[in-house]
Amino acid sequence: MNDIAIPTRAPAATSADDTVQPFAVSALDLRGRVVRLGPAIDEILSRHDYPAPVAKLLGEAVALTALLGSSLKLDGKFILQTRSDGPVRMLVVDYVKPGRLRACASFDLARVAAAMAADNASAGALLGNGHLAMTIDQGPTMSRYQGLVALQGDGLEAAAHEYFRRSEQIPTRVRLAVAEEFRMDGSEGVRHRWRAGGILLQFLPKSPERMRQADLDPGDAPEGTTPHTVPEDDAWVEGRSLISTVEDIELIDPGLSSERLLYRLFHERGVRVFKSIALEAQCSCSRSGVASMLRSFSAQERDEMVEDGAIRVTCEFCNRTYVFAPDEVEEG
Ligand SMILES: [Zn+2]
Repeated sequence: MNDIAIPTRAPAATSADDTVQPFAVSALDLRGRVVRLGPAIDEILSRHDYPAPVAKLLGEAVALTALLGSSLKLDGKFILQTRSDGPVRMLVVDYVKPGRLRACASFDLARVAAAMAADNASAGALLGNGHLAMTIDQGPTMSRYQGLVALQGDGLEAAAHEYFRRSEQIPTRVRLAVAEEFRMDGSEGVRHRWRAGGILLQFLPKSPERMRQADLDPGDAPEGTTPHTVPEDDAWVEGRSLISTVEDIELIDPGLSSERLLYRLFHERGVRVFKSIALEAQCSCSRSGVASMLRSFSAQERDEMVEDGAIRVTCEFCNRTYVFAPDEVEEG
C-alpha cells in the first residue's frame, strides 16, 4: 500500500483571480485545471464594444484557451481560432507563455442583433457551422502543431469534447462560464465587470485499455444497426458525473476559491493541487512592430492608407490605435 505521507492542508478560502490551478485526483487517475478570470477578462472584453452575447462567447473562448494553453511545456504560443458561418464569423484568442492573453471577435452586427431579437443568441447559434482550430507555435525552430475540429451548431465545450475524443483519444470534460457582475459603486452608479471561469477534467490512466470510449457514430451505417458500445471505466464515469454537477456560479463566484471548488468535488477521493499559473491581459502589439509592418508595404499602398495626413492602424486585439506621419514609415 501507499505509505508515503502526503502533506495535507485545508483548501485556501480566498479566491485568486486570473489564475489557472492544476490539480490531480490520483485515486481516479484524473487530472485537470481550473481557470478563474477577473480583472484580466474584464480588461480584454471591455476594450471592445461587442454586443453582450458576443463578449460572452469570446469570454468562453478565452477561458478555454487559458485551460488548454496553460499546459504548454515549452515557451511558445497557443492560438485558438474559430471560423464559421454563424453571426460570429471568427474568434481568435492567443495565449503566450507564461500567461499572457489577448482576444478578438469578428461578427456581423445585423445578424447578431437579429439573433438577440429572436432570443437565439446561444454560443452554438452565434457560431453556426465551421471549424475550431488550435495551433501550438513554439518558434521558428519547432514545427507548428495544428488540431482541427468541426463546429456543428454547438458551443465551444462540445467542440472541445469532440476534439479530445477524435484527435487525442483522451476522455475529457470541459465546463465554461462567463457572467457580467453589476455592483453599486457610490457616485459612479452601477459598475459593470466581466468574470469568467472554467474547469477541464481528463482521464489519464496508466493502462490505455481503460481509456476506451464508445466508437464514433459511423454516420452512414444501415438503419437498424446497433451502435457499438463499450463500458466506460468506473473512475471516469465518477469523474465526469462530478464535473456535470458544477454550476456556472461556482466557476465565476469571487467568493468561492478554486481550491474550495475542487475540495467540494473531490474531497472523498483526495485531490492535490500544484503551483498555479498567473494570467494577464496583455497584447503583443507595439509601435515599432506596426511601423515595420507598414514599411513592408509598397509606397503606393502606404499612400492609399494616408487619411488627413496620417496613417492610423488599430490593433484588432486590444483596440489601441497607432498614428504615424507618412515619412515615419518610409522604407529605410
Ligand atoms: Zn494590440
